Amino acid sequence: MLKQRPYLIETLTAIGLIAAPFVLPLLGFAPNTVNRILVWGLFGLGFDILFGFTGLLSFGQSAFYGTGGFVAAYLLTQAGFPNVLLALVIGMIAAAAAGYLIGLIALRRTGIYFAMITVAIAEVFFFVEFNPLSDWTGGENGLPGVPTPSFNLGFTTLHFDSGWSLYQFLALCYFVGIVIALRIVRSPVGAIFSAIRDNPLRATAVGHNIHAYKLTAFVIAAAYAGFAGGLLGVLQAFMPPDAFTFDTSGQLVMQTAIGGRGTLFGPLVGAAVWLSLQDFLQATLNLGAAWKLVLGIVFVLLVCFLRRGIVGGLVDLYGLLTGKRGAEADTTEAGVSAQDEQRAAEAATAHEPAAVPISSRPHLPGAPSGPILQARGLTKRYGGLLANSDIDFTVNHGELRGIIGPNGAGKSTFFKMLTCEVHPTSGSIVFEGRDITGLSVTDVCQLGLTKSYQVNQLFAGLTVRENLVIAALSGLRGRFRLDLFRSIDGIPGLTERVEHTLELVNLTARPDTPVSELAYGEKRRLEIGLALATSPSLLLLDEPLAGMSPRERVETVRLLKSISQGRTMIIIDHDMDALFELAERVTVLQEGRVLVEGTPDEIKNNSTVQEAYLGGVHGVLAA
Ligand code: ADP
Repeated sequence: MLKQRPYLIETLTAIGLIAAPFVLPLLGFAPNTVNRILVWGLFGLGFDILFGFTGLLSFGQSAFYGTGGFVAAYLLTQAGFPNVLLALVIGMIAAAAAGYLIGLIALRRTGIYFAMITVAIAEVFFFVEFNPLSDWTGGENGLPGVPTPSFNLGFTTLHFDSGWSLYQFLALCYFVGIVIALRIVRSPVGAIFSAIRDNPLRATAVGHNIHAYKLTAFVIAAAYAGFAGGLLGVLQAFMPPDAFTFDTSGQLVMQTAIGGRGTLFGPLVGAAVWLSLQDFLQATLNLGAAWKLVLGIVFVLLVCFLRRGIVGGLVDLYGLLTGKRGAEADTTEAGVSAQDEQRAAEAATAHEPAAVPISSRPHLPGAPSGPILQARGLTKRYGGLLANSDIDFTVNHGELRGIIGPNGAGKSTFFKMLTCEVHPTSGSIVFEGRDITGLSVTDVCQLGLTKSYQVNQLFAGLTVRENLVIAALSGLRGRFRLDLFRSIDGIPGLTERVEHTLELVNLTARPDTPVSELAYGEKRRLEIGLALATSPSLLLLDEPLAGMSPRERVETVRLLKSISQGRTMIIIDHDMDALFELAERVTVLQEGRVLVEGTPDEIKNNSTVQEAYLGGVHGVLAA
């Protein structure tokens, strides 16, 4: 999330754009090159929101660049449309509409499949432009005669026809583009874009409709592409058919990688490097087509040594020099580090007890009573394996329930069904009087039921506070809201909720620390904090003590005790001493079935449990 002093970036951009015509000629830049850089930079603003901020790599942006470009050019050259700016805006709207329709299809898949669909769709657009629509687009001849803008102010008319004069119009367009893009990435929607990039699974689980947000990013990128496409026609006085080619999409991706993704300015800087190298190598050194070889080497070197591109590298350098946070975490798709996985795996086998004296939980007066959750006949079949079989389970308001059982007993599957991550083969789940069987995990979270994960599912590229903001936003804004231009700081109750959660999980000293720099115990607490920040009325905790050292366990058990005041919680854990101290009732699962249910004392002394759990070593649980 980009957070700076108010309007600092905007002011610096304005100064840079005003200074450029005076400074860049001294560096050998021709006005036409600068203008082309601006068009690519504007094109890249939307692409960076899609790729850099939301993590969706599209190779199909040429489809929208071409759509916007040809719609605007057609209006201006064939339809006798007089107003250049209005034609550009109509082209942008056409591209955004195309983006919406394509996004509906392409976003049904993720990762490489999403990328491949975008390639295929761009190819379809290219074909359609050349063949069925060639009467409108000019086919391989393109559309010549696109006019430049002029504005009649009454007393005089401003013409922006070529060179530095056209630069003024393009610079103004770029400035408006960056101001809008900055507002978007600083809005709640922008924050959720970053969450989707870092960990889509958790963004869904904390209650955001990530499909709708991805579609939003896709449409934004298409709109920027459409407007930039229109400007290409204006810049060249001709709308070229190659705007639609795969090369255009590829060049945009490479320029963004060179300049630095997730920085907004990366595509502009990348375009400057690309186009100036092209001019220098082709025209000055007469390398002809071989210039791409040099460019390829530059690209490989930059990607290898400056993983976040030129702008990202500069931001990191500034961070190092000023002692502020620089490098983003090296995030994995699911936001799970190898260390986290390893410690969670170790936890599955090592069950050290935490000897913590804990007093009993007071029940708050006036709190609702009766069942909050009822599962009936819950069964999950994986092929021939019954992970859960005919489970009846009821938890009352204010209760703290423990679930134990040997590995493979079906505990995690049971939690996944309760939170609707997986749907039962048969049976039903009623939460607060409502049948939630078959709902989505997002809807269930919105209703007030969520869980913390056995293996941390954090937003690894964000800070502790930013993580909690993502979770808190879902409760305050619902599953989807298009508040694109709202400042995240202006959301009533957000700061209070985040601060309160920081206190609950004892992370008040580390709010601005990137997740990658947290100790394992802190990550586990943040994992619980993410669930808590959604303000659940029923909180499920899947092995909250997994992978912790004995000292971390003691601290976390104490923390769980304080969190449980006035809350309804169900905890799975292998640490039976801790669980028997915490829980009022315990359910024992074995081979996917409920073996027995009772108070901790009843469970400790139950011979069936001892038989099942410890292979008949009687008396060990009670010891
Ligand atoms: P626990 O959490 O008690 O260790 P799980 O719920 O993870 O148990 O697993 C219960 C059983 O279901 C195991 O035998 C496991 O291999 C199986 N299982 C869990 N998830 C899947 C899945 N997605 N596909 C197939 N089998 C699964």
